[in-house]
Amino acid sequence: MTDDLRDLYQEVILDHGRNPRNFRRPAGCNRRAEGDNPLCGDRLTVYLKLDDAGAVEDVAFEGRGCAISMASASMMTEMIRGRGEAEARALFDAFHKLVTGGDDGTGDVEDLDKLVALSGVRAFPMRVKCATLAWHTMTAAMNGLETATTE
Ligand code: ZN
Repeated sequence: MTDDLRDLYQEVILDHGRNPRNFRRPAGCNRRAEGDNPLCGDRLTVYLKLDDAGAVEDVAFEGRGCAISMASASMMTEMIRGRGEAEARALFDAFHKLVTGGDDGTGDVEDLDKLVALSGVRAFPMRVKCATLAWHTMTAAMNGLETATTE
């Protein structure tokens, strides 16, 4: 990765961290879960509105935390809207591999789009929890659980 590209990725994280997308409590949500990352102090609530087929009709979040956790949650809401439940879970799997270093570089990174910006956290295990908190919380909500924790 060139330095220019690295700067760009950081800009994406800063932008989403400062101005999180879908930071709201949507009307008519039918699933919600609260996520907690005590090591960093990130806390957020993910709201989902799933249609009858289980597809994500709406997704939003509220909460507070570090730039990485907020940016990851913001990007997540943009990326899973309109996806089926299995697709959203598969995206988390791919993202999880990316940030934990399990991705060998031949996976479907293209699908991850701007989430690739978060791949730098793989060098910082504590930050991996920040980056994946919203995703753990989203899947907890899909599973009908009300809480998720990174611990
Ligand atoms: Zn954090």
